[in-house]
Amino acid sequence: MFRKAHYLFTLLCAGTTSAIMILMSLLYLRVSESSLQNNQFTSFQNDISTIVSVLEQSTYISIQWLSGLEARNDYIIYVVDNDKPFLYNTLKQNMEYDPDALPDQTLLAESLQARDAMFEAESAIPLDNTWFGIIHIEYEFTSSSTGEDYYSSLIDIERGTTHSQIVILNPLSRLQAQILHQRLLFLLLDFVALLAFSVFSWSFTGKLLKPLKENHENQMQFIASASHELRTPLSVILATNECCASATAEEQAGFFHTIRKEGKRMNNLIDDLLTLAHSDTNRFMIERKPAELDTLCTNAYEAFEPLCRQKRLSLSLTMPETPLPRCVCDPERIAQVLSILLHNAVSYTPEGGQVSLALAWRQERKNFFEITVSDTGIGISDSDKKYIFNRFYRAEKSRSGKGHFGLGLSIAFEIVTAHRGRISVQDNVPGGSVFVVRLPG
Ligand code: ADP
Repeated sequence: MFRKAHYLFTLLCAGTTSAIMILMSLLYLRVSESSLQNNQFTSFQNDISTIVSVLEQSTYISIQWLSGLEARNDYIIYVVDNDKPFLYNTLKQNMEYDPDALPDQTLLAESLQARDAMFEAESAIPLDNTWFGIIHIEYEFTSSSTGEDYYSSLIDIERGTTHSQIVILNPLSRLQAQILHQRLLFLLLDFVALLAFSVFSWSFTGKLLKPLKENHENQMQFIASASHELRTPLSVILATNECCASATAEEQAGFFHTIRKEGKRMNNLIDDLLTLAHSDTNRFMIERKPAELDTLCTNAYEAFEPLCRQKRLSLSLTMPETPLPRCVCDPERIAQVLSILLHNAVSYTPEGGQVSLALAWRQERKNFFEITVSDTGIGISDSDKKYIFNRFYRAEKSRSGKGHFGLGLSIAFEIVTAHRGRISVQDNVPGGSVFVVRLPG
């Protein structure tokens, strides 16, 4: 279930971020390409304006000037003199007249056709400077012979009886190669970013799901442990009940006692489970009111005194000599914590041992009450200390204890935490354990 959710969340996260990124890249490419094209066309128009202003000031056109212009700007230039192609290209190459070496006129013809088509469609107006007898127009066309795009400028020069035309073509192959290069670069960048987003999304969603997964596993574990613990007394009750039918009156009394005892055990376990379930769903009600912790400790001491005597344990109570301030807490819940800690201390301390309950008021950076329950019992190993506040955790050596479900300390932990206090455990010297509860003053 979590693996599927992990895949889905990764797909959603990486898919959304990548889609946004690809959309932004496409927008950027569009803007950048149209600005590249505009710049190229503007620069072509500027060149043509410069050429036209040179032509206005001179009475003849120099072949050297034209070929310099062509070489510098990567242009293709045709000259038409009185409606006949002028052998400018041949002259430029051979520097001598050769009527058979007429350069290929296809591009010139295509450019003129494109210009005529534009005039027919009235989609262009030539820029005219009749004072000097020069008209020029710039436009874009695609050659069907070379398959390339060109910016073209047609400059018409009327001087007396002579009519010359200069056609300047600017091939767009370099611009298109630049655009293609830019597109490939963006494709590569988008691909790398997509990979990076996928890796990031996988680890990010994994981190998000981790606490949910752990919580789910804990709940499953909790349900499994609770069912296991409830099954034991229930099986005893059912088995004892069956035996009752064929038992003598004397035996039945013993069986009823067992049923009552196991029923009580189940009842206690259900109470504990409900307490923990309420704490998990934040329905753990803490009814705070000013309470006297010394009274709560005295009551707990008196409640456990007979049990300690029965188990031949010495129980001591240490109180501060000066009167204590009242503690704002839920007295019933704090009494429950004292009972859990004293019950454990009595359970895990062999005969002849000592159990001590102490209350103190500490005034440090923050004032707090400190309740200490110490014993000289079996103690808790360092490896077990990490887990004893976990639900259903019981150290191996104490597993046999009936009525011990491994829930007491986790309940104590929830109660103390709900009071914004702290509970901790340490070793007693020379042996046993010391549980310390700190409550804010
Ligand atoms: P349990 O009902 O089993 O006592 P707790 O949650 O109260 O459950 O305690 C968890 C485990 O911590 C116990 O099973 C026991 O192994 C250990 N423990 C708790 N208190 C003591 C103590 N005073 N001395 C030794 N071990 C203790």
